[in-house]
Amino acid sequence: MTQTRRIQILNPRLANQIAAGEVVERPSSVVKELIENAIDAGSQRIEVELEGGGARLIKVRDDGGGIAEDDLPLALSRHATSKIESLEDLEGVASLGFRGEALASISSVSRLELVSNTADNPAAGWRVVAEGRQMEPRVSPAPHPRGTSVAVRDLFFNTPARRKFLRTEKTEFAHVEEAFRRLALSRYDIGWTLRHNQKTLHQLRPATDAAAGERRVSALLGGKFLDNALHLDIEASGLRLWGWVGLPTHSRAQADQQYFFVNGRVVRDRLVAHAIRQAYRDVLFHGRQPVFVLYLELDPAVVDVNVHPTKHEVRFRDGRLVHDFLFSSLHRALAEVRPNEARPNAG
Ligand code: ADP
Ligand code: MG
Repeated sequence: MTQTRRIQILNPRLANQIAAGEVVERPSSVVKELIENAIDAGSQRIEVELEGGGARLIKVRDDGGGIAEDDLPLALSRHATSKIESLEDLEGVASLGFRGEALASISSVSRLELVSNTADNPAAGWRVVAEGRQMEPRVSPAPHPRGTSVAVRDLFFNTPARRKFLRTEKTEFAHVEEAFRRLALSRYDIGWTLRHNQKTLHQLRPATDAAAGERRVSALLGGKFLDNALHLDIEASGLRLWGWVGLPTHSRAQADQQYFFVNGRVVRDRLVAHAIRQAYRDVLFHGRQPVFVLYLELDPAVVDVNVHPTKHEVRFRDGRLVHDFLFSSLHRALAEVRPNEARPNAG
């Protein structure tokens, strides 16, 4: 016999934990959200430090604008954001975040500590702590240079069912490094550090010219990547496509070196994937995957980024135009490769 239960509003902590299911899948999702916040804050340096693949500790430190003392408790509340105020803002949104959900979600499933300072005086910082959001966030003075540090400890400590889905330290760290790679490839003007278990794995200075940009790509993707890639930079009908596409001879069995950015945002999009696949169709063996790092730049008003909570998808106002531009740009670049280079090779 089913019992009829009364309808109740979920308590905020449970509501946040449910929302966390969408945004926080594993340590790499936390890293992505924290780095995106650091980028949105206008940071020039972002340092990421992990322990235990991120399950034990994830720390992201930036030198951005910081959060004012009065705003600190709000920063951890759901649907609280400084990035949009109106529907018009949403339609032209330029920041990576805007849902106001990440910190609320993360703090509901971890022990979160945030220290921030908006002033140049390092003594003027503030700390806010939330442990699985058991209690209201507490704010106290704490020294910090201008900018923000967020430490996330013991991810999923209070949601054992979620914690069980975490893989080995090595696997979780591989996901974190991939998230880091994507974001470091999205902003050459920012300096980056990645440390795991006290070891520095990446230290990337801001890249201010083309040569430094190439050094960053090599540092993140291995030296062989650029040796086997074509550089391109094409503009037409208000669209610009630049970056590197792998020679057909440098294909891979898996789609694990494919990076596509739309206006600086990491994007995995079916229309984009289709255009690229078509362009490579005649020069790659069946089942082989091309490698690429490509940047598409277009008027933010003609692309909608508000499609999915993790924001990997986009919707172009004129999908056909974008598809044809990508296809023809890549097709032409690949056709210019000398025939003996373009011959398919499973290598
Ligand atoms: P969103 O990024 O969608 O606004 P978040 O939950 O990620 O939502 O962050 C909430 C708010 O906290 C942001 O809108 C911003 O004002 C502030 N914030 C978070 N991280 C930082 C940071 N590293 N530097 C400055 N402000 C931050
Ligand atoms: Mg955010």
